[in-house]
Amino acid sequence: MSTVGHAPALLPTYVRHDLTFVSGEGSWLVDADGRRYLDLLAGIAVVSLGHRHPAPLGAAHAQLDVLWHVSNLYSTEPMSRLASLLSERFGGSSAFFCNSGAEAVEAGLKWARKVTGRPVVVALEGSFHGRTHGALAVTGQPAKRAGWEPLAPAARFAHPNDLVSLEAALGGDVGAILLEPVLGEGGIIPLERGFVEAARALADAHGAVLLFDEVQCGLGRAGSFFAWQQLGVKPDALALAKALANGLPIGALLVADESPTGFEPGDHGSTFGGNPVAAAAACSVVEMIDDGLLAAVQARGAQLAAGLSALPGVVATRGRGLMLGADLDRPAAPVAAAALAAGLVVGTAGEHTLRLTPPLTISADEVRHGLELLEEVLA
Ligand code: PLP
Repeated sequence: MSTVGHAPALLPTYVRHDLTFVSGEGSWLVDADGRRYLDLLAGIAVVSLGHRHPAPLGAAHAQLDVLWHVSNLYSTEPMSRLASLLSERFGGSSAFFCNSGAEAVEAGLKWARKVTGRPVVVALEGSFHGRTHGALAVTGQPAKRAGWEPLAPAARFAHPNDLVSLEAALGGDVGAILLEPVLGEGGIIPLERGFVEAARALADAHGAVLLFDEVQCGLGRAGSFFAWQQLGVKPDALALAKALANGLPIGALLVADESPTGFEPGDHGSTFGGNPVAAAAACSVVEMIDDGLLAAVQARGAQLAAGLSALPGVVATRGRGLMLGADLDRPAAPVAAAALAAGLVVGTAGEHTLRLTPPLTISADEVRHGLELLEEVLA
């Protein structure tokens, strides 16, 4: 039975379960006592191909044997290849590589400032963009910002899918509109096509750039390679991280070929950015996200969403692909803890919302099993 506490010798920045995982395979995790858990969270949308997937595992192993690191003053083959693969998928882009989602967003904020010369970013209430001062400043959750002011970029917040509030937030001082196509931490809220189209038009009309944060919803999670492809609205730049190397740390900012390059040598950097081992794993992840996998994401997502809607205590289900939120008639954290005790890993997003972001490779049987366990927990 798991309890909540924190391990000695770790700063208590997380409410950590007293549970140590020692291995994983596919959609399954194993704890220190040998007990198996079905993983419907995947490290919060990180281990998207499942634990120990042979493609990134083989690529990382092979790269470990030849080259771990060189300075970004030089090129490496995996980093160059990854930039090309992402550019192909995006429809033409240049990449800056870093190590996390917050750093990818920071790079985007600096890029937007450079190309527009303007200080203000319009972001959404409930959004989450990371924990550095810059990324925190544009995170639309006051509780996460409280205690850390003064924060760097000036941010104004609009309501998701509320065009009137978006228009009201715009002005001649705005350099970027920053959107998560599906808000993750904010409760799994998909943005509507009309809202995102309007954001594109408003950005163009005001001389601002449109920046998407696909750290959580990108890379197949929403059922398309990039979430924006379902909305039909291409951003000027986009932040990626989480699933990019299936669990090894890496982040990326992609800048569209149609947009100004902005950055010049010396403007930005990251010692470990584009690390060859992470980049080699990431190349294989990108190659694995093909039409077959995306069709499976949509099918398993529909199965999971339908099953969730029928569970006792679930009052609403939202999301795209395998990024799903289930609103409960009770607080979500105790349900997630009870699920863990029953051998099921799920997350939360807000007080009453369960978050489900299983591996994209999950099978129909595993989805069924997960729903059965959740039903027992919620009954
Ligand atoms: N952006 C989004 C949409 C996220 O969900 C997260 C993390 O949850 C971040 C940025 C920050 O990523 P990281 O924790 O890798 O800095």
